[in-house]
Amino acid sequence: MKTKYCCDDLRREIEEGDPFNIPRKLIKYNRQLRYTAIVCNEEKNVDLPMNYCPFCGTKFPESLSETFYDVLKKEYGAKYLISTGKTIFDTVPAEKPLPREFRTDAWWKKRGL
Ligand SMILES: [Zn+2]
Repeated sequence: MKTKYCCDDLRREIEEGDPFNIPRKLIKYNRQLRYTAIVCNEEKNVDLPMNYCPFCGTKFPESLSETFYDVLKKEYGAKYLISTGKTIFDTVPAEKPLPREFRTDAWWKKRGL
């Protein structure tokens, strides 16, 4: 069965963490925007997206960070494009909640991206 990870080292790091006895996750997968990143600051949600797996060298699929906003703007209008200069996903005003499918990977899977 094919997994969503290119190798077991990456799966272990993302799902289990702590491969080098460092008490925090080093790598995360953002399924909403489909990118894998080095975790720089977990509290502030600062990360550094990577293009290749650091364990086996497999090229990751293209990040959908930009596409996310393009699709939202096209389908829902500019009102959803709210940026605080920090992270954006939890900052959409409560009166205009992010459409459910955009909170997970459902939006890009549904559109075959
Ligand atoms: Zn890999």
